[in-house]
Amino acid sequence: MGQVVKSIKGVRDILPDNIHSWHFLEKNVRDVMHSYGYREMRTPILEKSELFHRSIGEVTDIVEKEMYSFEDRNGDHLSLRPENTASCVRAAIQHGLLSNNQVSRIWYLGPMFRRENPQRGRYRQFWQVGAEVYGLPGPYIESELILLGERLWRELGLSDHVSLQVNSLGTAEDRAAYRAVLIDYLSDHVDELDDEAKRRLHTNPLRVLDTKNPRMSNVVAQAPNMLDYLCDESKQHFEGLQACLTECGISFEINTRLVRGLDYYSHTVFEWVTGHLGSQGTVCAGGRYDGLTEQLGAKPTPGVGWALGMDRLVELAAEVNAERMVDEPDIYLVLADQQAIVSGLALAEQIRSVEPDWTVISNCSVSGMKSQFKKADRSNAKVALILAEAEIAAGTVGIKSLREKAEQQTVPRDKAIDVLRNLIG
Ligand code: ATP
Ligand code: MG
Repeated sequence: MGQVVKSIKGVRDILPDNIHSWHFLEKNVRDVMHSYGYREMRTPILEKSELFHRSIGEVTDIVEKEMYSFEDRNGDHLSLRPENTASCVRAAIQHGLLSNNQVSRIWYLGPMFRRENPQRGRYRQFWQVGAEVYGLPGPYIESELILLGERLWRELGLSDHVSLQVNSLGTAEDRAAYRAVLIDYLSDHVDELDDEAKRRLHTNPLRVLDTKNPRMSNVVAQAPNMLDYLCDESKQHFEGLQACLTECGISFEINTRLVRGLDYYSHTVFEWVTGHLGSQGTVCAGGRYDGLTEQLGAKPTPGVGWALGMDRLVELAAEVNAERMVDEPDIYLVLADQQAIVSGLALAEQIRSVEPDWTVISNCSVSGMKSQFKKADRSNAKVALILAEAEIAAGTVGIKSLREKAEQQTVPRDKAIDVLRNLIG
């Protein structure tokens, strides 16, 4: 035998023991999206690199150093998608979802790829769910997207563990004015900047505010306030959002250092953060990106959306919500011999037909009863069903709760389902 091949750095296998928390999240996502009229869109994992260069921007971590890019055999430059907003906008333009001022509410779910330093909550293949809306310029749709997120946290039992931060980046003109002031300020404090911030000072100074370097927290805290540079229209937009959220009972905090990593945002930006996941505390982030369609060659169209990090949310749910993250079988069939296995497979079929939500596992190998009961216990099933020669001859089945200390009972087959319903609930 040769050497065993292992997975690559920063990517993970999600094993059957852990899949339930993912399904729990995915099911709630589907239900909540459905209840707001958002429809799923699936775009390719592989896109032209140009798509991300043009949308995310050259001076970003993602494009500078995190993309998995390669030249195809015909010379095309391709990349694994590092995020999905650009692909959604590309697809919306390509398939006419933006024409005639129509409104589209879209969601997606899938893996993204960034060559980051792997650590807790930060992987090279990670999963995002996103919601995107095209065609609505006002703060109301931003509020709807935030309400949708809040409902999802409620369904997931996470409301007490995440908090909402909002900020406004204003219009492109507002940002240009603020940018100049910020460059002056940062230039006066250049000694306090790390190398990355020095490099970004003239290319993408807003990103300096987004630093995760604790040694720069002081210089960032003292920086001029972006909100002081908003024009009247931008102020109104931001006040509209806050009024709407307040009216709907959503609590939030204004965080003027919130700039988002990507270049294409304007007006409202927001994040939900948690204190439970160490330094990877942002579980969901979004904002308005009205300029993106134009950057990708179409006419300007309002766009706004958010993306949540599924890996982080699953970890958070597993930590604060462990009791809801279990997935245990209902019934384990203990089958004494070959004839009992055949009979048991048929019985299991009957049970699944009347109770399709139950998980029913048949012991399909000929083995001793003792070892089968051990397997039944190890499976965490609630109930064992037992078939041996005597039960088959009498048309009965043995039923034993694996949760309570009770004797095995023997019941006629046609009464079995009622007894099971009682035990399983
Ligand atoms: P961060 O500041 O944590 O690097 P980001 O600003 O790069 O996040 P976005 O591009 O806005 O993240 O992605 C939205 C969400 O996707 C993040 O809030 C986070 O929950 C999740 N996410 C981003 N990168 C990763 C990653 N490498 N591994 C796991 N989750 C991630
Ligand atoms: Mg990042």
